[in-house]
Order: sequence, then structure tokens, then C-alpha cells
Amino acid sequence: MNITFLGTGTSQGVPVIGCNCEVCRSLDFRDKRLRTSLHIEDQGTSIVIDTGPDFRMQMLHNSIHRLDAVVYTHEHKDHTAGLDDIRPFNFKQQTDIPLFGTTQVLNQIKSEFAYIFAKNKYPGIPRVMMHEVSNLPFDVMGITFTPIQVMHHKLPVFGFRIGDFTYITDANYISPEEIEKVKGTKTLVLNALQIKPHISHFTLEEALAFIEEINPESAYLTHISHKLGLHQKVQTNLPENVAMAFDGLQIST
Ligand SMILES: [Zn+2]
Ligand SMILES: [Zn+2]
Ligand SMILES: [Zn+2]
Repeated sequence: MNITFLGTGTSQGVPVIGCNCEVCRSLDFRDKRLRTSLHIEDQGTSIVIDTGPDFRMQMLHNSIHRLDAVVYTHEHKDHTAGLDDIRPFNFKQQTDIPLFGTTQVLNQIKSEFAYIFAKNKYPGIPRVMMHEVSNLPFDVMGITFTPIQVMHHKLPVFGFRIGDFTYITDANYISPEEIEKVKGTKTLVLNALQIKPHISHFTLEEALAFIEEINPESAYLTHISHKLGLHQKVQTNLPENVAMAFDGLQIST
């Protein structure tokens, strides 16, 4: 399985509009973070987790020419706003694109993108197929996704385990039962927003504590704010098996 980090930034992205901090002014390409999203390629099957507002640029930057399905973690705008831009895949592939999400996520998409579901559709709008999922393993084009239900303040959000790879983007609490599903994973991606406490995301310290508990071969931090600091500086102080993810980073499992 080939994995590409399409975006590793928090909801405002990095740099933040109008911000003059050293991270937002940094010339290091790793300090330029589009909104969090992931691409999975496995034997020609192409799946994206979340369609944030930067979806279009992410498809272009990473030369993604085919899309078989979208899997959603949760309904926040930084994970859904780019859905309209699946249209080129509809046109090219002449298919509807399957969307996988909980009832709550799909209902939110139906209300925020009401025109997609209108009775009398305007020509050329996105074409999708809705697939409701619950907190049980489900199949996406032959790939098994096991949801990890994590808490994002008071909102339940899905992380996913796919084989030995686990991806958790928006969490500040994971219950003991759900932690059981993460145990034994070889590669763990986890959100680490900033240094200071936050209402709905792990801090760097909390993320590192969870990584230590799971003890994967390698861990990557994502959903990063400009407040976390310069990529290069933060990376220097991380344990050996932990890396800051950055946009465009590719790994294989
Ligand atoms: Zn988010
Ligand atoms: Zn800044
Ligand atoms: Zn969120």
C-alpha cells in the first residue's frame, strides 16, 4: 500500500492568512501545510480520506489521476469542503464516486451540498453514491477499513486501521476499548496540533504519550498548527521512531 500525505495542516492551513509568525514566514516547504487529507493507493485502487478545501490542489500537486472512493473521518469543513471538485473524476471515469461515512457525516454532506442531491439536478454537478458505515470493519474496493472511534471534544470521529497502518486525525481522547484496536499497528499517524492544551486535539506531549503507549515501528504527526513550531526544530526533539509528516510525504506499508 502506498500512502501519500496530501495535507498535514490544521483547519486554517499553514501559513495562516495574515499571520507573520516565523512558521508562517518560513521558506521550508515542509512548513506549508494544506488541510489534512491522505491518499491510499493499493494495486491500482485509489482512495482518499477526506476532501478538505484544498482537495483540488492536492489532486494536482500529487498527480492523482483516478479516484475510486472517498472515506470520511468526520463532517468538519476542513475535511469536507472540497467535495465539489470530485467532478473531474466523474467526467473522466464516467462513474459516481462512492462516499463512505457515518450517518451523521453523510447527513451533514447532504445538507451542506444540497444541490448534489436535488431532485432536478443542474448538469455537471458531482455524482456520488452514499455508503453508510458504523463502528465495524467495512470494505472499500477490497481494502478493509476498521474504524477507531475517537473523541474530538464532544464529537465522535473515526480514525481508521488498514492492516498495520492506523490513521487518526482529529482526537483528544481515545477510550481503552478503541485503543485495543490500535495496538500492534506498525505505522501510526496521529494528530498533534500544538504545544499548549487544546479543547479538541492532542498536544504534542499528549500525542507522544499515546505513541509511546502503542510503541509502533514508526509514527507520524499530522493536523499541525503554525503554533507547533518550525518543522525542522520540532523534528529535532522527537523520539527516533516519530516524524513530523509534511505535505507530499510518501510511505509504503
Ligand atoms: Zn480537522
Ligand atoms: Zn503563523
Ligand atoms: Zn475536526
